Amino acid sequence: MIIELIHVSKYYPQSTSPAAFDISLKVKKGEILALLGPSGSGKTTVLRLIAGFESPDEGTILLKENEVSQPGVSLPPERRGVGMVFQDYALFPHLTVERNISFGLIHMSHDDRKKKVSDILALVGLSDYRNRYPHELSGGQQQRVALGRALAPDPAVILLDEPFSSLDPDMCVRMREDVSSILRETGSTAILVTHDHEEAFSMADKVALLNNGRLEQHGTPENIYHTPLTPFAADFVGKADFIPGVVQGDKLMTEIGCLENKTQFTEGDEVMVMIRPDDIDLRPEEEGEAIILDRQFRGSENHYRVRLSSGQIVHSSQHSVAVYPNGLKVDLQIQMTHIVAFDKKEMDAYLD
Ligand code: ADP
Repeated sequence: MIIELIHVSKYYPQSTSPAAFDISLKVKKGEILALLGPSGSGKTTVLRLIAGFESPDEGTILLKENEVSQPGVSLPPERRGVGMVFQDYALFPHLTVERNISFGLIHMSHDDRKKKVSDILALVGLSDYRNRYPHELSGGQQQRVALGRALAPDPAVILLDEPFSSLDPDMCVRMREDVSSILRETGSTAILVTHDHEEAFSMADKVALLNNGRLEQHGTPENIYHTPLTPFAADFVGKADFIPGVVQGDKLMTEIGCLENKTQFTEGDEVMVMIRPDDIDLRPEEEGEAIILDRQFRGSENHYRVRLSSGQIVHSSQHSVAVYPNGLKVDLQIQMTHIVAFDKKEMDAYLD
């Protein structure tokens, strides 16, 4: 393991609840982990604990099997072998691209340093920009410099704090791809802080979902999307509708059909079944009991809002040429590979 957090908690003075509570996590070599959660959920606190800018009040942090933090003992950030990419890149404005990148390499001989800087400039695609200053670069280029500077000393782990938040959406998508491929190419171990589930899903091998300072779920992106363990997880990582159901025999009876009960619930239990837009298919049907309310065209797909006969509204994503008018009667076909249901009382408490 490159990083291990064991029951780590952090309480800031004057704060009534912990910023991070009882977090246990492991990150393997070469793995990219996304710390995902809404604002204030504790993502930055966990990142800062790993970097050594904060020390935990409880628990232990190991980097490359060595204890670097425990209450009262904390190895300073510069001795941890971590590279940071900050939200605003934090480049040195008075240094050229080349000198920004070579900044952390003073321990190397002149020739080694020169070679390393050339390699990094090539890696981040900035060989032709080596003599420019940060203000002469675009946002995406500045970010590449920040990544290059963090990678240059061969750190054990790269920590990225909301690295795409100041880029416009087009650039953001491109930079996610570029940064991922640079991290993969170098076999880097990385932790990325983000509030955007699409960013976490597209870049990370594993996602640690935080809520109110607690680790809500830790798993692969697919695992969290398809089998969320809590209503919060279900709701936070993508559009989800929740439909009432009741267990009868080996079935889950709902308004949109009778599903196989592959859940932990038993006879008579009242549940809420999670349905994602990609679980619902539509078919125009004169006798259909559901009605299309409206459509949002999103380029690669159409998103429909559909009203069931009970009045409940569900969402369905269809391919980009499946265009149906508002008011059309339809039949719904459920295509679920994973059935996720929550106890009705737990769901009511979450929605409160
Ligand atoms: P996130 O990165 O998910 O937005 P943070 O880790 O920044 O969350 O914050 C978690 C909680 O800790 C929030 O309630 C925040 O207000 C609080 N917090 C963060 N930094 C400090 C600080 N230096 N002093 C006091 N409270 C803080």
